[in-house]
Amino acid sequence: MNRITEYFKSLLLIELLKGMALTLRYMFAPKYTVRFPMEHIPRSNRFRGLHALRRYANGEERCIACKLCEAVCPALAITIDSAPREGDGQRRTTRYDIDLFKCIFCGFCEESCPVDSIVETSVMEYHFEQRGQNVVTKAQLLAIGDRFEPEIAAARAQDAAYR
Ligand code: SF4
Ligand code: SF4
Repeated sequence: MNRITEYFKSLLLIELLKGMALTLRYMFAPKYTVRFPMEHIPRSNRFRGLHALRRYANGEERCIACKLCEAVCPALAITIDSAPREGDGQRRTTRYDIDLFKCIFCGFCEESCPVDSIVETSVMEYHFEQRGQNVVTKAQLLAIGDRFEPEIAAARAQDAAYR
């Protein structure tokens, strides 16, 4: 019986007509295409994009060069050198590099940081033009942090109850 039904279905092009009806329905349905980069979809406050190093409100770097982020990074993307700071002798990084070609944006670095220094921002539109630009330096990470601090702080505040 099934084979007879299938035979008549194929003879009358039922499946084809069903497909065309579906196409016709979607032709008049609301469109969901996002015209990136002019349009963006909402991003979670936990979005893991470009990294940044944060400062305290008084301008002091948060990072205390504990190297937890370097140790936890599964991609070995972070390289840190540290030394006592001139003046007060506090340990600070002298080098903080992240190789974004190695990074898998897992977020372990920001989760491990005891002072909320290294974070991942919601920035995902960036590119490199020269070989070597994939290694983002401490100065660049601090500059990104300075630029996006209000957004970073707001995202952390929204997520505070879950951290
Ligand atoms: S997001 Fe993950 S892979 Fe990237 S630097 Fe942080 S710990 Fe390493
Ligand atoms: S960014 Fe955080 S985890 Fe990494 S070295 Fe600095 S204080 Fe430690």
